[in-house]
Amino acid sequence: VNSETGQLLDLHKKAAQLYHHILVNTPAGEGGRRYLTRRGTSAQLIDQFQLGFAPEKEILTAYCEQQKMDYQLLRKSGLFTEDQSGKLHDRFQGRVMYPIKNQYGQVIAFSGRLLNTAVTDLPKYLNSPETPIFNKRRTLFNLDVAKKAARQTGKLYLFEGFMDVISAFGAGVSAGIASMGTSFTEEQVGIIRRTSPQLNICYDGDDAGQNAIDRAIKLVASQATGNLQVRVVQLPAGVDPDEYVQKFGADRFKDYLAGQEETTTDFYLRFLRQGRHLTNQSELMSYLDQALKVIARVTAPLEQDMYLGKLAQEFSLDKAALQGQLGQIKEQLG
Ligand code: ATP
Ligand code: MN
Ligand code: MN
Ligand code: MN
Repeated sequence: VNSETGQLLDLHKKAAQLYHHILVNTPAGEGGRRYLTRRGTSAQLIDQFQLGFAPEKEILTAYCEQQKMDYQLLRKSGLFTEDQSGKLHDRFQGRVMYPIKNQYGQVIAFSGRLLNTAVTDLPKYLNSPETPIFNKRRTLFNLDVAKKAARQTGKLYLFEGFMDVISAFGAGVSAGIASMGTSFTEEQVGIIRRTSPQLNICYDGDDAGQNAIDRAIKLVASQATGNLQVRVVQLPAGVDPDEYVQKFGADRFKDYLAGQEETTTDFYLRFLRQGRHLTNQSELMSYLDQALKVIARVTAPLEQDMYLGKLAQEFSLDKAALQGQLGQIKEQLG
């Protein structure tokens, strides 16, 4: 391996092996092992995702010095911090290590999770910085595996976190991906579009998750090129996919994913109701106005009619009147 890219990939491969070895085989990995056991992460999943542990020592620095690796290469890798004298130190310490791979399965970065977030104000997850081999905006965790699964099933699942992807995989859902903690990007939408005809968004069942679903749907819709069918799977309040699997088991998780898949229109009809008192006339009118605007964007006539029917039934309204109002809204929207 001569190119800089090749050398950086090689370094990441070795670092992943080292962190994994420490987690699985050494006394220094004890804390990480206990943490993952407590979370219900099996040895099989630890191997599948090559999870590791970075102890509170400078093990990677020591390893790279021993291997006489090139200083400039190490600086560029993102795996170290540099002090004022230019000396390098392990960036990841006291963290469970999640290798992040590109779509070919090569390790290009890490995310490290603190064992205990209560005792410090350090970030819960620390990611590698951008490097010549790691572009956060273009990276999706587990894409290398998920794209193969999506070839069979025609759908990808977008989760919030790494542990959601890992637990879903353990439950038999291997088409799960996650963005890099920061927001979901245009570049990632482009990659997903080229990989799968359908994307199911399955974020955490809290307000942050709901608002993130809204943003993700709008981001996909804002990109005119190509077709990507978006569906939503809204989790019960207060749980994320990983917690759902741990609480209710693999079978119920899979049943839930299949049974709760809904269109983005159905998602919005629910989302727009939140915090409204629909027994109040003016709140109901303003909800209906927003709901009809969502329904106006549905292009298939039969589907549009179905949503109108639902709305009419739910609030005991005259469907013809709703139809009339929808017509007006369509005119306004042009
Ligand atoms: P865990 O189950 O390990 O507590 P999570 O995935 O449920 O983690 P969330 O709080 O739901 O964590 O956040 C979703 C994702 O956002 C995380 O997986 C991580 O990628 C990212 N994230 C959360 N907190 C931070 C943070 N403090 N710094 C950087 N990224 C973060
Ligand atoms: Mn969350
Ligand atoms: Mn979680
Ligand atoms: Mn979560």
